[in-house]
Amino acid sequence: MRVFEKNSNIFRLLSEAVSEGIVVVNEEQQIVAANMRANDMFGYADEELVGKPLDILIPKTYRKVHKKHVKDFYLKHENRRMAEGRSLYGLRKNGKQFPLEVGLNPFSLYGHTYVLALVIDITERRKIQKNQKIKTAALEAALNGITITDALQADNPIIYANTAFEKITGYPTAEILGKNCRFLQAKDRDQVGVSDIRNALKQGKGCHVQLRNYKKDGTLFWNEVSINPITDETGRITHFVGIQNDITERKMAEQKIGHLARIFDESLNEIYVFDADTLRFVNTNYGAQKNTGYALAECRKMTPLDLKPEFTEAKFRKLMAPLLNGSEGKVDFETVHRRKDGSTYPVEVHMQPSTLDDRRMIVAIILDISDRKNYTQKLEKTVEQRTEQLKKALETEKELNELKTKFLSLVSHEFKTPLSGILTSATLVGKYPKEDQQEKRDKHLKTIIGGVHHLTSILDDFLSMERMEKGKEVYRYSEFSLSKLVNEVIYNANMLLKGGQRINYPQNIDDVTIHQDEKITSLVLTNLLNNAVKYSPEDTEIDLKVDLLADKTVFHIKDQGIGIPKKDQKHIFDRYFRAENVLTTQGTGIGLNIVKAHVENLGGNVSFTSIQHKGSTFTVELPLKKGP
Ligand code: ADP
Repeated sequence: MRVFEKNSNIFRLLSEAVSEGIVVVNEEQQIVAANMRANDMFGYADEELVGKPLDILIPKTYRKVHKKHVKDFYLKHENRRMAEGRSLYGLRKNGKQFPLEVGLNPFSLYGHTYVLALVIDITERRKIQKNQKIKTAALEAALNGITITDALQADNPIIYANTAFEKITGYPTAEILGKNCRFLQAKDRDQVGVSDIRNALKQGKGCHVQLRNYKKDGTLFWNEVSINPITDETGRITHFVGIQNDITERKMAEQKIGHLARIFDESLNEIYVFDADTLRFVNTNYGAQKNTGYALAECRKMTPLDLKPEFTEAKFRKLMAPLLNGSEGKVDFETVHRRKDGSTYPVEVHMQPSTLDDRRMIVAIILDISDRKNYTQKLEKTVEQRTEQLKKALETEKELNELKTKFLSLVSHEFKTPLSGILTSATLVGKYPKEDQQEKRDKHLKTIIGGVHHLTSILDDFLSMERMEKGKEVYRYSEFSLSKLVNEVIYNANMLLKGGQRINYPQNIDDVTIHQDEKITSLVLTNLLNNAVKYSPEDTEIDLKVDLLADKTVFHIKDQGIGIPKKDQKHIFDRYFRAENVLTTQGTGIGLNIVKAHVENLGGNVSFTSIQHKGSTFTVELPLKKGP
């Protein structure tokens, strides 16, 4: 110790100049000197440590181990840092321990060996280390990806990336250190977020963006990135810290919700959401606003009752009740909606329960069924019309059947009378065998011939009708003498004349030939003349007149008969039709029908004028050229 005293000035000068604590011990592990820093560190007054064993500076628990280390140290006799790789503690005078670092430097002086221990209180460093450790652990534990880039190096390379970053991107840290972060965008460089980052970095500002990034395996993920600059004490940006967050799921959910919201909004059907308790509308979509004319703000002050004139609140709540008590998942009904302008339209309503922030809601989807209603109405009308048509057809059919029955009875009747006439006449002829009874015989023979003619004409009509019906009628045109045909027709009709009746011949037809179907022309004239005879009383005249025109021949058959009642005139050409004033006269109702059909088939026309009790005139026009 004295040795040190001798050199105390030098020691003092040196030891006070260094910032570490200095403690010198001799071979007996006694402190022989300590500088001010060491005294302060251990809490002793100047010189207080000198002469004290070193142990007072070592916590009890370490003393034993320390002794062994000292022994080893002396054996090796080398400079070294103590406690490398493990923690070393000092003991202050107040009994408190503190972490320290010691460098041991043995030296010899005047034949004695000393050890100069340079002691550093590392309490602060430990604290910082601990703090840093916590921070690093925190960075590593963070679920967000964290990168630190070096702003002072060219192209701002990554110098740190945490585990979460590896996890999010799939890139191992070793692979990306030294690289710029842009590899995360792969080829998808044209993004708003990217230019936002570029601008922010240029201005030395932080930024917060969402980017389409790509993992190592190429999968896209949405990256929410915050970048913040870190400056040194001079304000220079040294680093950027990037925090990355994989928001793919959120983004997808947002997109999905966005999509659903768009569907809701853009639907042309009306969609309403209203509070199940207050009935106030909470939301209405575009379709609803467009169709009703109420803007959303107006709707929010309204309830479904403002749109549904057919409902009272009680009736509406009763309808909703099953949705609220859970007995029904859906309620559908039809009603009408009233627009803002007062007009109404038919709707089909579908209501479902829903909740919004614990509030009971009803979602109503409304279909405008005007078109459907119109369609149904149209359909109903068509059905009505068809039914009416069918009814008419059925009636016609019924009428036809009745007519047929009537026809059959007429035909039987029609045959029966001439046949019995023929029979009677034939019987009577036998009763006049004498020569001078020729006149009587002729009378009966005339009746027989007339009867046969009559029957033939009925059969002719009948066959002609049947042929026409089957489409078998073939018209044969030829050049023939009109007077010859007219003579024959009148001759036959004369057989049927009643007493005092006369048929007047046309005067202008000698040597006239016409080009027509001879047989049909004969049938037409026979029919009309026979009718004229049949429906005229005795002592009347019947005129047959012919107009010979350039393109047609016109026949007029005029009688002074019973005429046709006005109300029956429109039916006179219908098959089987007979006017009410002829029912006691024989007839079938076929003749005129056949005449009209034939004349029209030949391109001609038949008409009549008639006054009851005065007479009728039938007019037939036949074209001279061939018919159609
Ligand atoms: P019908 O065998 O009954 O004579 P038609 O078809 O020839 O049948 O005539 C139809 C109906 O037209 C007759 O039943 C009759 O009521 C009316 N009719 C036709 N011609 C005359 C006429 N010259 N005078 C009065 N009624 C006529």
